[in-house]
Amino acid sequence: MSSAKGAPEQSVRSECDLPTAHGTFRLRVFADAGGEHVALSLGSPETTPEPLVRVHSECLTGEVLGSLRCDCGAQLEAAMAAIAAEGTGILIYLRQEGRGIGLTEKIRAYALQDQGLDTVEANHRLGFDADQRDYGPAVRILEQLGVHRIRLMTNNPAKLRALSAAGVEIASRKAIVADPQAHNRSYLETKRDRMGHLMDWVDGTEEGGA
Ligand SMILES: [Zn+2]
Repeated sequence: MSSAKGAPEQSVRSECDLPTAHGTFRLRVFADAGGEHVALSLGSPETTPEPLVRVHSECLTGEVLGSLRCDCGAQLEAAMAAIAAEGTGILIYLRQEGRGIGLTEKIRAYALQDQGLDTVEANHRLGFDADQRDYGPAVRILEQLGVHRIRLMTNNPAKLRALSAAGVEIASRKAIVADPQAHNRSYLETKRDRMGHLMDWVDGTEEGGA
């Protein structure tokens, strides 16, 4: 397959069934020069009009270690639960830790945050943009899976714009709701106030917003 922007060919390298707490998904590994990524599919999204899709970026601390500095673990769980509730959908898991800056730099940014910087200021101090993520692999995975028009589960307008600009038709957006906790409230507020994330529920004005 030829891809936009001269990206290297990306194809399914391996696949299996993956039983999870949310049901049995089909797991496919995709790889390109940027690394290995995963698509978890449930049901038949390729024949479903506007299937629910979550494009989720890796967060080792939040998802594996249970860190409360962010809401990634809760968002991942909520996304899998929402797809399971519909019986059809795709979770694309991109291996771009720390909004694309990698684990070492993410932990450096955390250390700067411990000194009082917020997540955006910390990234800038380290010489990065607030968000370095590349959604190109997700676009190519959707192409490979034969899915062109989706309902995207996200609070992040930049992600909506990036996927849409790359040719993915976004029929609608579904909010993803994770409960703010004492440790990550300021992080969530920064995402809302400084990165434009759509999450009025952080201040409790829209409990369980849809
Ligand atoms: Zn995280």
